[in-house]
Amino acid sequence: MMFHTLGYAPDHPEAAIAWAGVRKLLVVQEDRAYCQPCLSPVWDTSLAGHALAEAGVSTDTACGWLIPLSVRGLHQDPHRLTQRLDANRLRESERKSLAVCDVDLDYTLTTTRTVDWAVSTARFPNQLKNVKARLDAYGMKLGLWFGPTSAAVSSKAVREHPQWRMSWNGKIGEPREIWETEKSYEMCMVSGYADYFADELIRLAKEVGVSYFKWDAISQYGCNDPHHNHGGENNTQQESADSYAFQLVQSMSHVAEKVAAAVPGTIVDFDVTEGGRAFGLAFLSSGKFFLINNGPYYQNYDVPIDLEKSNWNLFFNQGPARTWITRSPLTFDKWIPSVLFLTHYFPDDPRQWQEVNVASLILGQNGIWGDLLSVSDDGVDFIGSSLARYKQVRNDITESDPVVTGLVSGSPEIYEKISPSTGKGAVVIFATHPGGYEYVTSHKAVTQHWNSDGVTIHFDGSGRATIQAQFEKPGAKILFFGVK
Ligand SMILES: [Zn+2]
Repeated sequence: MMFHTLGYAPDHPEAAIAWAGVRKLLVVQEDRAYCQPCLSPVWDTSLAGHALAEAGVSTDTACGWLIPLSVRGLHQDPHRLTQRLDANRLRESERKSLAVCDVDLDYTLTTTRTVDWAVSTARFPNQLKNVKARLDAYGMKLGLWFGPTSAAVSSKAVREHPQWRMSWNGKIGEPREIWETEKSYEMCMVSGYADYFADELIRLAKEVGVSYFKWDAISQYGCNDPHHNHGGENNTQQESADSYAFQLVQSMSHVAEKVAAAVPGTIVDFDVTEGGRAFGLAFLSSGKFFLINNGPYYQNYDVPIDLEKSNWNLFFNQGPARTWITRSPLTFDKWIPSVLFLTHYFPDDPRQWQEVNVASLILGQNGIWGDLLSVSDDGVDFIGSSLARYKQVRNDITESDPVVTGLVSGSPEIYEKISPSTGKGAVVIFATHPGGYEYVTSHKAVTQHWNSDGVTIHFDGSGRATIQAQFEKPGAKILFFGVK
């Protein structure tokens, strides 16, 4: 109709393809023919307008109302995005056997109201059963991402227990929208709400099969209400606020332990990427830390981007700088296994940076997150085969004391994670300058091994490995010991 009205000939390529598109909607049967109703009212309006145009009636009145309603610049709507996450991402992992696949079905996409975590049937007509079945086939866990302290205004938690809402200096905060959900209040984790929340997670674990819980947005400070479990009328507001901050971690641990006791095998990851989060050993007694999801918004590094035009979170930039930040916490590994500090690495091409990211990941932080669908076939094969080797020796790597040579971002920067008891594990070498580097392992290593290109290896009389690594450009070399 548009092309016709604008005076295009019917055989103009643009007009022809549009007309062919409409014809595809026609269903012609023996006794009747009709045009399939469209999901979009714009289409229906267009077809109705076309009928008017053919009848010789002016289309200005019929179509004019649409002009101010035209929506431009929208790349994706949440519904479509959900469909893509649901189907394509999993299909991709099936096709290419990508070993780790972060299926973060963001809760804003799965539910429309916080705390009453019902799966949105508009978005997932079959609940999450299809997703769960597919994950089970891969031996993967179904995980959901929560803001535990948020409870929707109309939620059961708020309706039945309004006394558990946080208050500050005698005032309950205004409810606010959390992403695309209904407005939510902040609930106090050091009140009866903690057990209520634990029971919700247990219900989700049993009913939906969720066994991996990411917790986000729990602030260290936030409540000084005198009617919760962190102070009373005889305490000052400061004492009550500090008591909340002090007890928060124990309360979170209590929830994680209660869920794990009811449904063994569940894991809680607490996101401490942002500031103002409780970070200490207490929570590690029952859960893990999600140490870095996106990345710091700081410009401490010489990142070649335009600060005016680009997103200056390092997560969005390829190259080695992000991994310098994400590898720095490996200094904890001497005392606390790095597997307790989930950190996301980038899967993006080119291979040069994929090698750096995978080499970092296998040191134990174990996370991968990004636009998996845009990773090249070659990249998926590389990541998948690397992680398959890693899985053969991950326990050896985890149990071994790290031997570290060089500084993060230095050349070379070397991590030896070989188990003294099995001789299995890995050595990873990073370099930011081209050159040849030699390393002799501290521990004896089994001779069966796999290594990156540009690496030669031989074993001395004592069983230690002497490694020569040649770097043509900045990157990483991986050596696995004890893999098939
Ligand atoms: Zn409180």
